[in-house]
Amino acid sequence: MNAKHLLTIYPDSLPPGGIDLAADIAAEDLNVPEDDRLVCAAPIKLRLHVSLVHGGILAEGSLHSVLRCRCDRCLTYYDHDLTIGAVCHFSKSTDNEPVDLTDDIRQDILLAFPQQCLCRENCAGLCSNCGQNLNVRDCGCQHQTVPNDTWHALDKLQFNGDPNSNASN
Ligand SMILES: [Zn+2]
Ligand SMILES: [Zn+2]
Repeated sequence: MNAKHLLTIYPDSLPPGGIDLAADIAAEDLNVPEDDRLVCAAPIKLRLHVSLVHGGILAEGSLHSVLRCRCDRCLTYYDHDLTIGAVCHFSKSTDNEPVDLTDDIRQDILLAFPQQCLCRENCAGLCSNCGQNLNVRDCGCQHQTVPNDTWHALDKLQFNGDPNSNASN
């Protein structure tokens, strides 16, 4: 079903208790931009209750989809669950003019897109030397050319009773 058609609400046709809208909409029908890095892998599941309130209509409910993302660090693809649990839009309507919710719904989805795509929080990324995915295995290249100052500082510490301590007594 055409998304714009579905999401256009005619206030004078709403029953007193409102209506439930349930639909699975393709991302392209909502003009959600997609690229290599991020696509909607499943239709957008829309569950809305639309009711007449003073001066307009109120749409409340939830949106759900699954995003197929490409990790910014290691470039592998992974699924990201997209759930927007608290959709709430008030649209003014004077003289029972129809209200189109398409733009509001599209914005909800775009705002919920991840800013950074990471397959896991501590993704090790690709080796800058040979391109090996370091989550899979270590390629053996020297990755850390910068000495780790924390350990260097700890090495200088001496503890009582340390058999390796060379402190004189
Ligand atoms: Zn990754
Ligand atoms: Zn390497």
